[in-house]
Amino acid sequence: VSIRRAQPVSVVGAGLAGALLAILLARRGFAVSLYERRRDPRRGTPEAGRSINLALAARGIRALEHAGLMERVRPLMIEMRGRMVHEVGRPAVLLPYGQRAHEVIYSVERAALNRLLIEEALRFPGLALRFNTLCNGADVPGDALQLHDAASGRDYHAPLTPTIATDGAGSAVRASLQRAGLASVREEPLDHDYKELTIAAGADGCLLEPHALHIWPRHGFMLIALPNTDGSFTATLFLPRTGPVSFATLADASEIEPFFAREFPDAAPLLPDLRQQFARHPQAHMGTVHTAPWHAADHVLLLGDAAHAIVPFHGQGMNAAFEDCYTLDRLLETQAEWGALFADFERERRANVAAIAQMAIENYGEMRERVLDTRFLRQQAWARELEREFPERFIPRYSMVMFHPEISYAEALRRGAVQQEILDALSQHAGDSPCFDWASADHLIRTRLSLKAP
Ligand SMILES: Cc1cc2nc3c(=O)[nH]c(=O)nc-3n(C[C@H](O)[C@H](O)[C@H](O)COP(=O)(O)OP(=O)(O)OC[C@H]3O[C@@H](n4cnc5c(N)ncnc54)[C@H](O)[C@@H]3O)c2cc1C
Repeated sequence: VSIRRAQPVSVVGAGLAGALLAILLARRGFAVSLYERRRDPRRGTPEAGRSINLALAARGIRALEHAGLMERVRPLMIEMRGRMVHEVGRPAVLLPYGQRAHEVIYSVERAALNRLLIEEALRFPGLALRFNTLCNGADVPGDALQLHDAASGRDYHAPLTPTIATDGAGSAVRASLQRAGLASVREEPLDHDYKELTIAAGADGCLLEPHALHIWPRHGFMLIALPNTDGSFTATLFLPRTGPVSFATLADASEIEPFFAREFPDAAPLLPDLRQQFARHPQAHMGTVHTAPWHAADHVLLLGDAAHAIVPFHGQGMNAAFEDCYTLDRLLETQAEWGALFADFERERRANVAAIAQMAIENYGEMRERVLDTRFLRQQAWARELEREFPERFIPRYSMVMFHPEISYAEALRRGAVQQEILDALSQHAGDSPCFDWASADHLIRTRLSLKAP
């Protein structure tokens, strides 16, 4: 089916990716129908959901800028300059994320960002947003998008071709493609769960440093906290589901306060209503979703978490979903057919999304464990020195992912592995010395790392 101006296009799910994508499509003149199962967030309080705030970084910002939205998004953003590491019995230490002033990430409230995107989407007269509309799946042979209007209780169909499904990690569209044998789906659950807790603002403002992402790394588990614009923090406890230190052991409510007092002694006093919050807030699962293919001919494409949900430890799920939107919009300039567009999109994104899925899992180990390891911290300091000396060739992997959208995720993974080998070789040579051998570093970097490639 060829791509025509003013053509109807359906988008399922007005979450972060769906709302942004609908804006980009409406800007190009398509007649977008956007279906969302939730009620209109502009009416009443938002529904409770996953993660109250999120880390926004350069890839997400590039997509929002591309859509002309950054001016409105900026007031929602709180700069986080690094990880503030809290060890038991020691003062907290800030490990900066980058070494240039702009190398920071931002905390944004999910509900506020989503509401803003929805408001912007509704400014396009060619865009129809249907709230309280549940999608039950895609009937590809029948060319029908199956919908249910919660207000009237009515089931109805809309033409399927073309539809872009952004209905999140539990995608109904993906499930329907799987049932029809059109996609294979593998869910890789993590054996750790999470629970969110709110640290309220104090009488005179924030109770923690506001310009940092706080981490309490405890090897097998961790607590983190991200700032909110009202001076509060959203903390998240990541913990194994079962085992000696786990959510299972905290099922006995009398264990919760002693556990926090022992493991997070500086955070515990900031959570006076810990037990009540623990009982009220859900314990949620995480995992990686692998789907292949992401599209069914020219009928339907899965995008964002619907195609590739990842674990949250690199703070990149939303950023990757926004980068999906940016990529699809750019490809619309070159493609004349929906099927070819969807295939091009999948070709360009698949290896990159696999790379960030892997890096996100690896980053859990970094956050809960390696930030406590002196060898890791020494290598990080060296990596920063090497970046200053060879800024075109050596960029720490975290920085490539968070601050360099011109370097793809797959390339960041590949270059990161070579850089790690170089750091390991320098460590081996240095022994216990805090300094590395510049001549070896220079040789290894010039021979093993080419100039920065996009
Ligand atoms: C604990 C946690 C922390 C995270 N932290 C970060 C972070 O710091 N940085 C980051 O970049 N990412 C983070 N993420 C990931 C991020 O939340 C997701 O990657 C992002 O929300 C994906 O956007 P999406 O639009 O694809 O899906 P969603 O945001 O989930 O949106 C899906 C939308 O579809 C709607 N919907 C679902 N099913 C249907 C249906 N059947 N019919 C109609 N509508 C439907 C939903 O109501 C929702 O509006 C985190 C995730 C978790 C769980």
